Amino acid sequence: MRLIITEKNNSAEKIADILSGGSSTENKSFTVPIFKWSDGEGDHAVVGTGGHMVERAFPEGKEYKQWKLDLIHGLVDAPLITRASDGKKNTIKAIQKEAKAADNLIIATDFDREGELIGLEALEVSLEVNPDLEPTMKRARYSALTKEEIEGAFSNLDELSYPLANAAGARQDIDLIWGAAFTRAVSLTAKAYGANFLSVGRVQSPTLGLIVERELERRAHVYKPYWELFAKFGHPSGASFETHHETDKFWDKAEAETAQSATASPGIVKSVTSRKNQSKPPTPYNTNSFQVDASSRLGITPKMAMNYAQDLYDDGFISYPRTDNTQYPDSLPLEKTISALVKIKDFAAAAPLLDAPLTPTRGKKFDAAHPPIYPTHALYPSALDGPKARVYELIVRRFLATFGSPMITESTRADIEAGGQTYFVRGKVLLDPGYAGIYTYARSSDEEIPALEEGQKLELDGKPWLVDKETQPPARLSEAKLVQMMDEQGLGTKATRPDIIQKLYSRKYVRNHPPEPTATGMAMVEAFKEYVPGMATSEMTATLEGEMDQIAESKLTKESVVDDSRKLVHTTFDDLRKGEEELSKIIWAGMDKDRILGPCIVCKEAGRTREDGSPNQLRIIRAKKSGKSFVGCSGWTADDPEACDQTFPMPQPNFYEVTPLEENCSICHRTPRVSVKTRGRAGRPWKLCFNDDCPTMIEMREKKAERLAAQEAKKKADEAAGKTKKATKAKAKPGAKKKAPAKKRSKTVAASKSSGGPDLGTRRVKKAGSRNGPGATKK
Ligand SMILES: [Zn+2]
Ligand SMILES: [Zn+2]
Repeated sequence: MRLIITEKNNSAEKIADILSGGSSTENKSFTVPIFKWSDGEGDHAVVGTGGHMVERAFPEGKEYKQWKLDLIHGLVDAPLITRASDGKKNTIKAIQKEAKAADNLIIATDFDREGELIGLEALEVSLEVNPDLEPTMKRARYSALTKEEIEGAFSNLDELSYPLANAAGARQDIDLIWGAAFTRAVSLTAKAYGANFLSVGRVQSPTLGLIVERELERRAHVYKPYWELFAKFGHPSGASFETHHETDKFWDKAEAETAQSATASPGIVKSVTSRKNQSKPPTPYNTNSFQVDASSRLGITPKMAMNYAQDLYDDGFISYPRTDNTQYPDSLPLEKTISALVKIKDFAAAAPLLDAPLTPTRGKKFDAAHPPIYPTHALYPSALDGPKARVYELIVRRFLATFGSPMITESTRADIEAGGQTYFVRGKVLLDPGYAGIYTYARSSDEEIPALEEGQKLELDGKPWLVDKETQPPARLSEAKLVQMMDEQGLGTKATRPDIIQKLYSRKYVRNHPPEPTATGMAMVEAFKEYVPGMATSEMTATLEGEMDQIAESKLTKESVVDDSRKLVHTTFDDLRKGEEELSKIIWAGMDKDRILGPCIVCKEAGRTREDGSPNQLRIIRAKKSGKSFVGCSGWTADDPEACDQTFPMPQPNFYEVTPLEENCSICHRTPRVSVKTRGRAGRPWKLCFNDDCPTMIEMREKKAERLAAQEAKKKADEAAGKTKKATKAKAKPGAKKKAPAKKRSKTVAASKSSGGPDLGTRRVKKAGSRNGPGATKK
């Protein structure tokens, strides 16, 4: 029997279908689907591993389990072990059962480093029960789940590449050692225990560094005022038009005013110049340019873009989405692909491409492993769901655009002199859309200007006007820009970058979109820069990435690279210990800052302040006994009856993401306002004011009551209708069981779903000193 092991269940099914000519059937073994068929060559079975079946881990033993600073050097040098990954025991059993019966093994996992390592793991799992398989083992490499690619790969089998698998294995080991050593070291140093541990990663921390550096630039920005001068001129056509003074920015207001008052009718057209611009068609997509484009053109984050692309690949609609290549290999059936695509109405505009020889653009990067991302199947985008349709369409349009002609636009500038002051107007019109006819994202709308000729006299329409502006700080880095910078600096790989950014969100080092560092995130980078510079910048990690490339090229061994990396961890850890005290202070200050929501108005009204005169703050506190979070005032002390006892219940951070919105509610001005979102669920966050008497909260309660009433009415109506329905259904299909409604969901979450906010009890803003103070005695 021939056993074929793929990476995903989906690809197992597709490959079985293609190789069997549609005759394969699905069987289950230990709940794992296996696709089987028989033909003249014998029996065949295809099974997917569902990713890594085994993982690397520290050995058992309390010296590796315990979080202690003294144990970290030992942890770094621990001999790593391989063990079954969580939830993979059945897959391993299923594969071993088939491997025992097999006399021939083919590894058909995805074709990249990670796929090679998964293939090696599958081989090792199989050899454990059947060592005779080793000499028979072959590797099928393909870049798309299409008939041509799969048949080509299986008639042209290759060998498993150990260097490629070892490069991926080295990354696993190195990331495990770095992550464990520094997550423990930094958490212990900053005394951040339990669920609040501070995650540190070899790639993650320098990536956070990029975001923080930009934030520091923004904060250092000095706003400088400037003025812009505009004037409107009438035109014989009846339409007047706006012009801008030739001085882009006036830094001196008096100067701008002088120019303004000097401007006088008539304006005389001094020159009209036109220039044709050519914009070249774009190059084929690799992972990086695809992620950047999906983000900027479609507003889809790099992580989601990769998820959709993976789905499209698994369905056989596009080629493998993890590729560095930007040059189509000669083997690609370009003409056939285009012919199929232009039969789809949405892409018919590209049909003329086939009238001339095809000359695609070429990017700089070449990689023999995979072609650039291109569509392998023509279909109507509308056949796909929402964002997946848009991603597919983007990939098709980009593919077609790479064969297109340049886009040609004409830009015109006219200069008009009025009272010795020169104003200009600019227009841009599209002459030939070229590739942008199909790659519509690249088209900008025309900005037409009225017909003007030299010497023409024009009257001013009204008085010229000044607009005061100020210089702006550099924008925050979008996720697309961040992925691009990570690529340029050698941080992470095309496969890991979106996940690393995601992790920064889940560890609360950044929030919002584009990512904005939290105080904790800022403090981490600040502390690293000062005391462990290697962790804050990309250099060290980029060097390691380079070494991993050399493993893939057989120039270095996995062992030597992992050992070098261990040495680096030891010295970096020693650096950290030298700055331990200062480092923890900086991080503590950051974490503390993130807990503050806003000033306590009650204290302010009572004239209570901190010792240094700064206002008392409402902040998030975790109760030591119950572990529950609530909001309390920094002006509270246990044994002072005069101290502030303002407290408010809040949505528990374990279930809800709570993000500060306003330090002081702009509606009621009594308490801070936050935005709350259920963890791990899509949907819009709701705004929560801690003051229950706030008009926004009263309105929310009213709406909730209305919704509940409507739900109740609907439920009653459904029940009435359902009774009759059920009765008829039960008669028609006595064996059919109706799925039980999803009742089991935890109560808090279910409640929040229907109410648009968790039930938090009452939040009343007390009067100043309400506990024992004058407010209470008056009662
Ligand atoms: Zn207070
Ligand atoms: Zn309010």
